[in-house]
Amino acid sequence: MGTPLDPRTEQVTEVLDRLYAEYPDSTISLNYSNRLELLIAVILSAQCTDERVNAVCADLFETYTTPEDYANAPQAELAAAIDSITYYNNKAKYIRSACADIAAEHDGEVPDTMSELTDLMGVGRKTANVVLQHGHDVVEGIVVDTHVQRITRRLAITEAERPEAIERDLLDVVPESDWQQFTHLMIDHGRATCTARNPDCADCTLADICPSEKGDGDVDLASGEAW
Ligand code: SF4
Repeated sequence: MGTPLDPRTEQVTEVLDRLYAEYPDSTISLNYSNRLELLIAVILSAQCTDERVNAVCADLFETYTTPEDYANAPQAELAAAIDSITYYNNKAKYIRSACADIAAEHDGEVPDTMSELTDLMGVGRKTANVVLQHGHDVVEGIVVDTHVQRITRRLAITEAERPEAIERDLLDVVPESDWQQFTHLMIDHGRATCTARNPDCADCTLADICPSEKGDGDVDLASGEAW
C-alpha cells in the first residue's frame, strides 16, 4: 500500500510526471481519417474494445462515407455491417439518427460544440469530449472512460463514483494543459498494468503513491472491496 501525496493536486502532478515518462507516445487508439469517421468510431467503442472497432471500421468506412450514406442505410443493413460490436442494433440506430441530424441540421458537418454534439442520438458527454478534442482541437473537459474511472479512484484522486462527478473532480485538480493527455495516459496504464481484475502492482510505477497497491494493502479503492 502506497501513500498518496497531499493535496490531490500534488498527487496528480506526480502521477502525470511518471505516466508521461512511462507512455511517451500515448494517444487515441481508434483509427479514423475525418470527423465523421471519428464520431462513428467513438459511438461504436462504448463497451467494446478499440481493436474490434478498428477491425469493423476498416470495412465500414469503405462502404459508407457521408452522413447521408449512414442515414439512408436500412437499419438491418447497417446493423449487419457492425454485428460483431456490442449493442450493434442500438448503435446502428444511434448512427443513423445522428447522421440524419448532421445532414439535415448541420450541413453535413460534425458539430463543434458540446451542446450540439450531445443533442445527437447516442452521443453523451464522453463521446462529445473525444470528438471535440480529436476532431476539432477543442478541449473543454476530461474524457472519463472505464479506465479513468477505475484508476483515479484507486489512486485516491477522486472518491466520486459516476463519470460526470469524477470529471468535475478532475477538472479542479488536473492542469488544463493536461486534460486531453490525462485520459490517454490512464487508458495506457489501465491496459498495460492497472487492469480491472488483476493489476500488476509489483511492476507499477505508481506503487509507492497508490493507496490501493496490493503489496500489503487490503482494499481496491475503485470498488471499495477487498482485493
Ligand atoms: S497497478 Fe496497483 S499500484 Fe499501480 S495504480 Fe493500479 S492499483 Fe495502484
